[in-house]
Amino acid sequence: MTLTAVRTTIAAACTAHQRQVDDVTLVAVSKQQPDDRIRSLLEQGQRVFGENRVQEATARWSPLRADYPDLRLHLIGHLQTNKAAAAVALFDVIETLDSERLALALAAEMKKQSRFLPCFIQVNTGGEAQKDGVAPAEVPALLQAAHAAGLSVTGLMCIPPADDLPDMHFALLHKLARTHALPHLSMGMSGDYKIAISYGATHVRVGSAVFGDRENSI
Ligand SMILES: *Cc1c(COP(=O)(O)O)cnc(C)c1O
Repeated sequence: MTLTAVRTTIAAACTAHQRQVDDVTLVAVSKQQPDDRIRSLLEQGQRVFGENRVQEATARWSPLRADYPDLRLHLIGHLQTNKAAAAVALFDVIETLDSERLALALAAEMKKQSRFLPCFIQVNTGGEAQKDGVAPAEVPALLQAAHAAGLSVTGLMCIPPADDLPDMHFALLHKLARTHALPHLSMGMSGDYKIAISYGATHVRVGSAVFGDRENSI
């Protein structure tokens, strides 16, 4: 696959489900990808990228910021509170808000840096012990805590269990977002972004289908 093929697939899925293509943002997941592939995507006009590690992302993207001022970087991996400052300095959207403690740390950093980033709450829809994110039932409390801290939460994000059909997870996230009047839904990866669009995804996080296989990939 290539960027063009993924964009074409997104457009077709939008048409098939009576959605506007502008309502779906392709977040190109660049973790563990070589610099030349990233440069190539930038040259093809891609501007929204996802990274899962703060330090790696800072080393890679800080220098590119100057050349591409319209870059939008999404943090899609777990964030430790001690890295909140670096995350706020680099990223434009935090997709992985998953605790009140983190909400407080992020809010404090945003005030300090005067950079107010929208956040999505990561929801562990499959209840998997090894995955980050809050249980669906904990979303209202975290929303309230984030709001009280002054954070702007605009959406939800999930990573369905690898061995489940993703449909029920996407449907659940969609329902939760609607219940809480949150406009953004980050769901769908290389294997299932078409399906995610049918359930209302506004952000699809696609890595290998855009870039090819990752280095050090397991
Ligand atoms: C790596 C990753 C992706 C992209 O996965 P692909 O299968 O390569 O598309 C999406 N979301 C998250 C949270 C990831 O860590």
